[in-house]
Amino acid sequence: MAAGGSIFNAMLQEFDGAARLLGLDPGIWKILTHPKRQITVSCPIQMDNGEIEVFTGYRVQYNITLGPAKGGIRYHPDVTLDEVTALAAWMTWKCAVAQVPFGGGKGGIICDPTRMSRRELEALTRRYVAEIVDAIGPDKDVPAPDVNTNAQVMAWIMDTYSMHVGHTSTAVVTGKPVEMGGSLGRREATGRGVMITTREAAKHLGFDIQSATVAVQGFGNVGSVSADLLSQIGATIVAVTDWKGGVYNAKGLDIPKMLDYMKQHTTIDGFPGGESIENAALFALDVDVLVPAALENQITAENVGEIKAKVIAEGANGPTTPDAHKTLHDRGVFVIPDILANAGGVTTSYFEWVQNRHGYFWEEDEVNRRLEVKMCDAFKDVLQTSIKYKTDLRTAAYVVAISRVATVTKLRGMYA
Ligand code: NAD
Repeated sequence: MAAGGSIFNAMLQEFDGAARLLGLDPGIWKILTHPKRQITVSCPIQMDNGEIEVFTGYRVQYNITLGPAKGGIRYHPDVTLDEVTALAAWMTWKCAVAQVPFGGGKGGIICDPTRMSRRELEALTRRYVAEIVDAIGPDKDVPAPDVNTNAQVMAWIMDTYSMHVGHTSTAVVTGKPVEMGGSLGRREATGRGVMITTREAAKHLGFDIQSATVAVQGFGNVGSVSADLLSQIGATIVAVTDWKGGVYNAKGLDIPKMLDYMKQHTTIDGFPGGESIENAALFALDVDVLVPAALENQITAENVGEIKAKVIAEGANGPTTPDAHKTLHDRGVFVIPDILANAGGVTTSYFEWVQNRHGYFWEEDEVNRRLEVKMCDAFKDVLQTSIKYKTDLRTAAYVVAISRVATVTKLRGMYA
């Protein structure tokens, strides 16, 4: 999915900036810039036409110092080991920023799920899990949904793992259907975290979120819920795009109607409540808040000059390249970095894992109340660190994360 350049190198660039500021011990620096484990598997599947196809899958456990690896599984034709490793590293920093006791992991399969039947997807998921079954588990590595995977895929993962270990194990995966141990509020949690951090940013910067305008790239899990919840607290969503097209309405889009339209058409392209718009025009809109919630490398040196938003809330992982980020910071744009803005998903995944291990489930209000506290605490920690070190929020988030992981690495000591 990398549109140019190594995503892992982009992560390292961000890491190095924060590590220098922190005066990080050189030995710990080396440890934290190497993935602990990278697994590559071949998954042969019989396709509906009778032919055998072999798909390549990855699972990377970047760091497990704070707890079991945690991170989503992505199905996409452009998945690479470089991308999965970067995403696993970001999960490590994200869990540390959010203060959830997990390390960072990520998985991916090179495939085009839009061209596969439900049976083929189930077969591929089960074979992939069988290939990595020894590496995952509630105390080892706990996958979750990411791009093009959903609660149904998590259900197949849970079932396949449970068949292998010989008992039902709900805590092996999060983002499951609520009927089989999923947490209430998990589906909305990433978007809810984007809404909370954007609201806190508006408070800090002194503008009223109720009169703010917002543009959102992506209308999947993260983008659609961010748009919906931001509109529920009074913001005006003026533009949304997805893989096929987009819609603009200066007076505001009716998000609940768009969600209904999406259910019928699987895209927002052609939604009748506004005029059509493409990504390039969406990024150039004169809005208060821009939410990139689709893919990596969307805000780059090429289009950063067009951006007029005051706040960028990174719903997606890695949507801004390091050079574009520097330009935005120099111009005073308040970028809420991915490892903070989209940490609501992993935080509620942690709540799901806790509920599974207790065998006792919380009401949705309880989940949302705890998420609110954790996201506000994380926002405050990162903001205060950015003020202390006179740096941008991304570097500050890395400083918070690296110092937490480094402290535990030192306490645990070197096993050799
Ligand atoms: P998703 O598959 O549900 O949605 C992705 C959206 O992006 C879809 O609306 C798709 O149409 C759109 N899109 C794809 N290509 C596009 C393009 N070129 N232009 C505009 N839109 C495009 O995925 P998701 O779970 O919402 O994840 C989105 C991003 O958020 C990813 O970077 C993911 O890693 C990150 N993220 C997801 C979660 C989560 O809980 N789902 C948590 C943290 C971070």
